[in-house]
Amino acid sequence: MSKRTEREIVLLYMSALTAAVISPFVLIRFLSGDIVMAIADAIIVILMSIFFLYVYKTHKVALASLLMSLLLIAIIIAFITVHGLSIIYWYYPLVLAIFYLNHQRTAIILCVVSTVTITLLLYPTTNFAEVSVIFVSMLLTSIFSFVIFRSYKGVQAKLKLLATTDPLTSTGNRRALDSELNKAILSQERQKKTMCLILLDLDNFKKINDTYGHLIGDDILVTLTKLLVNNIRMLDTLYRYGGEEFIIAPLYVDLKTAAIIAEDMRAVVEEHVFTDDISMTLSLGVAQFNDKETPSQWIARADAALYIAKDSGRNKVYLAE
Ligand code: GH3
Ligand code: MG
Ligand code: MG
Repeated sequence: MSKRTEREIVLLYMSALTAAVISPFVLIRFLSGDIVMAIADAIIVILMSIFFLYVYKTHKVALASLLMSLLLIAIIIAFITVHGLSIIYWYYPLVLAIFYLNHQRTAIILCVVSTVTITLLLYPTTNFAEVSVIFVSMLLTSIFSFVIFRSYKGVQAKLKLLATTDPLTSTGNRRALDSELNKAILSQERQKKTMCLILLDLDNFKKINDTYGHLIGDDILVTLTKLLVNNIRMLDTLYRYGGEEFIIAPLYVDLKTAAIIAEDMRAVVEEHVFTDDISMTLSLGVAQFNDKETPSQWIARADAALYIAKDSGRNKVYLAE
């Protein structure tokens, strides 16, 4: 399960747990003669098992989250219709699950519609005061969940950005690169796609720092990333691999096309006049992904090509074997 996302794992646990918790009730209700409820419970267990297999095989989390929420709401409404008020306690944890699993707008719609439906269902059989308390408590649970999850998701997004962004250049950092390459390779195993990686390194950058100072060096790194982003037009594929080394990956093109992109970048940087009239050049290594290799093997082949580019005079593009 280590290669699955957190939401996927939660969905798998939710469906497995729901099926496991409800299965004994199929037998209990059957033995106590409540055949209708035994069949209803059995249907839930079967649906949850199908759901588990669907998520396990397809990894489709967004649709699965909505389906899971709709299914659980339908189950609660059906049970309230049959058993009445005593089922209402299950609604409150469900609200939390709905807000965890879905986008806020979807969660609000699901909660408002289910709250109103349940209130209307209970209204004819329950006294007004009790229905009012239930309605207000369901509504408050949704409002509190909305407020808490909005703040939780905001903090989560900020933390993710901080943990994956290089503070100087705002490109992805090494952690983001590792995760992106693992993701790309995982999806490549399921669905074969040609993909390439470009490793680039500024030539003689140490001299710039020594001559003009570290601040000018920093400024050149920032300008370089802007040039690269304008050239590739995909900020989310650019990562700072080391001090003045960057990786562009995954590029879903063949080696020939990746070489053209790399050559474009080399030419753009060569022609650009940086701050203080400084000229810079890049050396680049390009590697197409080979089946079954690890991210570090893939990068190592690009690095070997980059080494040849450096060795043969710099300001060049070399392709890995
Ligand atoms: P080569 O052409 O072989 O790549 O030579 P080089 O001088 O670019 O390579 P080397 O690896 O010897 O030097 C890289 C330099 O990059 C060393 C370090 O001072 C500088 N550097 C690394 N990170 C930063 C940074 O964040 N800011 C600045 N200004 N310099 C950095
Ligand atoms: Mg360098
Ligand atoms: Mg270097």
